[in-house]
Amino acid sequence: MIVIKGVPASPGIAMGKAYVLEDEEIVVNRVEIGKDKVRAEVKRFKQALEATYRDLDAAEAKVLKTLGKQHAKLIDTHRLILSDPLITKDVPRRILNEAVNAEFALSEALDHVNEAFEKIEDEFFRERRHDLFDVGKRLLSHLLKQEKRSLTDIETACILIARNLLPSDTVNLKDSKILGFATDLGGKTSHTAILAQGMQIPAVVGLSDASHRVKNGDFVILDGEHGMLIISPSPEAIAKYQKAQLKTQQEEKALDALRGQTAATLDGHRFDLCANLDTPDEIKTIVGLKTDGIGLFRTEYLFLNRLEAPTEEEQFRAYSQAVKAMNGLPTVIRTADIGGDRLAQLGIDGPKNETNPFMGLRGIRLFLRHSDLLKTQLRAILRSTQHGKVRVLLPMISSMAELRSARRIFFAAQQELLAEGVDTAKKVELGIMVEIPAAGLMLDHLLTEADFISIGTNDLIQYILAVDRINEHVAHLYDPFHPAVVRTLYSIVETAKKKGKRVTVCGEMTSDPKAAPLLVGMGVDVLSVTPRMFLRVKQIVMSLRFEHASKIVQRALSMSDSDEIQRLLTDI
Ligand code: PEP
Ligand code: MG
Repeated sequence: MIVIKGVPASPGIAMGKAYVLEDEEIVVNRVEIGKDKVRAEVKRFKQALEATYRDLDAAEAKVLKTLGKQHAKLIDTHRLILSDPLITKDVPRRILNEAVNAEFALSEALDHVNEAFEKIEDEFFRERRHDLFDVGKRLLSHLLKQEKRSLTDIETACILIARNLLPSDTVNLKDSKILGFATDLGGKTSHTAILAQGMQIPAVVGLSDASHRVKNGDFVILDGEHGMLIISPSPEAIAKYQKAQLKTQQEEKALDALRGQTAATLDGHRFDLCANLDTPDEIKTIVGLKTDGIGLFRTEYLFLNRLEAPTEEEQFRAYSQAVKAMNGLPTVIRTADIGGDRLAQLGIDGPKNETNPFMGLRGIRLFLRHSDLLKTQLRAILRSTQHGKVRVLLPMISSMAELRSARRIFFAAQQELLAEGVDTAKKVELGIMVEIPAAGLMLDHLLTEADFISIGTNDLIQYILAVDRINEHVAHLYDPFHPAVVRTLYSIVETAKKKGKRVTVCGEMTSDPKAAPLLVGMGVDVLSVTPRMFLRVKQIVMSLRFEHASKIVQRALSMSDSDEIQRLLTDI
């Protein structure tokens, strides 16, 4: 029996055979695809070709700006290669005639051209083959990206072990047979971990080399609560975990009684307890939990795994479904926070190969640069107000200028809909995520133009402590109870209260039972919790006394050490 310790990412216990996902290498295999699929394969190739043209346009714009016209001409060589019949005609012909995958047809075509280049005597022309490979590689990478490893194709119930899983992989897990997953990389508040919680799939991340130590078919236990992966467990360990599984089921049944009860402390302090929504599958669960609303609708899932952004109509349908289901209770819809670990293509010049993506072109920064995307999303959200109570939330605000620009687009969308005679609510609140320290530090100003705030502890903590939320090497430094975090949260809540504005907290910290007294004691108005932890958190906050929790907060504020604060919260 081998026990590997990692970072607990999503609670629950899963037991079963391991399915190890190989590292992604650029090895092109010949895959026979069947005559009925060849047309679709040619289409896929053409889409990759278009995406590569778009890459070249973007590269050209960049070169033009930095090096000037003369150098930008180099890109023309690449365009010429891309439009050469050896690529545009030969590859589709191979796919059609040989019924093979596009990657293989492309690599064969490239080999063929390479042989021809090698015979050229003139060194200058012979060296042009590097351009050919460059273009070929770009094209291939688009093909490989589009042909995502489909986790839904895994046919038997298993525990997935992988070096890394991206949020775009994870959104598909619900429709798969996967009981839980373990990855070498990642941290507790990575979007992959958050999605797993939403889908109620046990997960452990940050296991460093687990994917090399587990073999396909090994029997494993995944302990999402304590962040452990056990390979070839002893019969005693299996029995212990079976018992624990049963106990959790019983405890969860006992929590059922809390559904629908008013969220208040023992001494009658009332607040709203809402749930975070990450994918539409969770709507039913949230309705069943009888929450006070959806405190954070993360809309990114709509933008992942596709080449174009979703249309206004598609978005309108998605938002309306959630708003209708909430039946008059509020739904806070956040405009998409693309970037960071949630990369999407969307046919735009978006973030690519950033050295530091969490500090890069992300959230409102990306959507202000491509304001058509923001306007479309805001129109769709505003239209959904005809079905119930909706608030709009902007991610990653760091300055007054950003807030003002976004507000202008928001009002423009409202005016457009009015002029078109579309039925929308008269007053729709527009709030901001406070998740960048700058927003917290100048909140008094921002609150003159924002109707409410939602504290995103996941990002706020990573930026206060300079600890990348998905980096397993510094996961131990990611600490919601660090005195600097506690003080920042307190000061944000105080400022908002002084200005009479409502405060929600919606990061994963709300799902940590230990943090509940701290957040309630600060006087937060709304806690938005992952559905999986909703009833557990409800049980804790309903057993607290507000007066006591407020005193605890004051004591925590005077402490200089995280361990001390955590002890204070555990002994409550
Ligand atoms: C947060 O940062 O706390 C948050 C809720 O947003 P996300 O996790 O989607 O970045
Ligand atoms: Mg965030």
